[in-house]
Amino acid sequence: MGEAAAPRRLLTPRVNPPPHDVAIIGSGPAGLTAAIYCARANLAPLLFEGEPSSTGDQPGGQLMITTDVENYPGFPDGVMGPDLMAAFRAQAARFGAEFRTEKVSRVDFSQRPFRLWAGGSDPPAATARAVIVSTGAQSLLLGLEAEERLMGRGLSTCATCDGFFFTGREIAVVGGGDSAMEEALFLTKFATKVTVIHRRDQLRASKIMQDRAFASDRIEFLWNHIVTDLVGAEALEGVKVQHTESGAEHTRPLAGLFVAIGHRPNTDLFAGSLDMAPNGYLITEAGSTRTNVPGVFACGDVQDDVYRQAVTAAGSGCMAAIDAERWLEAQGSGGHR
Ligand code: NAP
Repeated sequence: MGEAAAPRRLLTPRVNPPPHDVAIIGSGPAGLTAAIYCARANLAPLLFEGEPSSTGDQPGGQLMITTDVENYPGFPDGVMGPDLMAAFRAQAARFGAEFRTEKVSRVDFSQRPFRLWAGGSDPPAATARAVIVSTGAQSLLLGLEAEERLMGRGLSTCATCDGFFFTGREIAVVGGGDSAMEEALFLTKFATKVTVIHRRDQLRASKIMQDRAFASDRIEFLWNHIVTDLVGAEALEGVKVQHTESGAEHTRPLAGLFVAIGHRPNTDLFAGSLDMAPNGYLITEAGSTRTNVPGVFACGDVQDDVYRQAVTAAGSGCMAAIDAERWLEAQGSGGHR
């Protein structure tokens, strides 16, 4: 009996899917606003929204770990951060934005179309003619377990956002830099007393900010102390602090604690690809969202170390979408209104 003929392999040529007009990386107010504007300009944006965190936080940026938002225009009674982001997302989806619940792990902006990977290996998860970067920034935290439980429940990283909730209360700010002084001074408009808890006996803040803080009769300083724990099950009730030299500990009753020890932009992914300032923030051309790579735009907190507000992030997301649309049109591709 002769050997059975081996099945004939059909070789199908690998066809690369056409590139997207626009890929957006990041799903905070900047990325989702860019998605709404791109989708309404018929650019069918693909948005990499990130993944749920190990603690179950959903993608959507810093507002997903915020409770009441009272300064976003259009909500006279305030809105919960996650509800606001869900509304942004639904609006982008309504106009046809495509979502991938993945984190971009690598980018190649050296060739066109641009390539984006999610996970490590080939092929790329997507290619795109234009990319909008809106990966945001994170406030640095103290690294205490209780921070997650009490964030938005007395613990905050944004005095502009949350100061109002502490009208007539006693609160504290951790940190000794310009941010901490700025937050402490702003908070004196609301709180009866603001204690600045600093780990050394000298501030890092600029002289002018130090002078302003020292001149306030509502600001007190607790030198050489670190915060070792937060007290309160449902809401912050106090903080445990420890003297850095003697090790002596005590608990201070407080209604609020603002952590102001710095921010970190989420830009590791773009090292070597996009120009960054020494502090790691992406550099955009003044008055635009253009980065140093034509066709790559940046918006939101990843390129803003000054304002850091949801509404300013959303505004710059709109700018990035318009910049991308105009750039694509100038290249002879892209959607039309
Ligand atoms: P920063 O200058 O890096 O100061 C961070 C502060 O937090 C330092 O005092 C540091 O203590 C403290 N710190 C860091 N990690 C800590 C920890 N784990 N526990 C306790 N304390 C901790 O950050 P920033 O204040 O956010 O300012 C960032 C940049 O923006 C600076 O260049 C600043 O001048 C600028 N800025 C300017 C203005 C203004 O001009 N109005 C306002 C805000 C920010 P040590 O001092 O002991 O290191």
